[in-house]
Amino acid sequence: MSEDCIFCKIARGEIPSKKVYEDEDVFVFHDINPVAPVHFMLIPKIHLPSLLEAEECHAAVLGKMLVLAPKLAKEQGLEKGFRTVINSGKGGGQEVFHLHIHIIGGGNIPPMVKRT
Ligand code: AMP
Ligand code: ZN
Repeated sequence: MSEDCIFCKIARGEIPSKKVYEDEDVFVFHDINPVAPVHFMLIPKIHLPSLLEAEECHAAVLGKMLVLAPKLAKEQGLEKGFRTVINSGKGGGQEVFHLHIHIIGGGNIPPMVKRT
């Protein structure tokens, strides 16, 4: 837990969110500024800033999140597939420093990297 982390506050219910799923380890909610028709995020309830800080002790919750992602994506209508994004650190374009997996889909999802 981190007192001033916005995603810790969302997981504790102190800041409102559009919740998709919750259990003892994981909280899932819709992105406030979606980039596609469906855009939600999975976060661990423990405060882990990013993948850069991930260690062996985090393997179970990270694995749980990856296994949960397709189940929730299908429930949100993404049976045909979805994009998974994890921005890690300032070098990875991360803006909120509580690890989150973006699940993005619906509509037209272009190739991730535009080749010139
Ligand atoms: P990232 O750039 O990977 O750190 O992504 C942070 C994401 O958090 C962005 O897509 C934001 O739109 C989203 N976000 C920020 N604040 C909130 C909030 N209060 N509720 C839902 N999503 C949020
Ligand atoms: Zn946090």
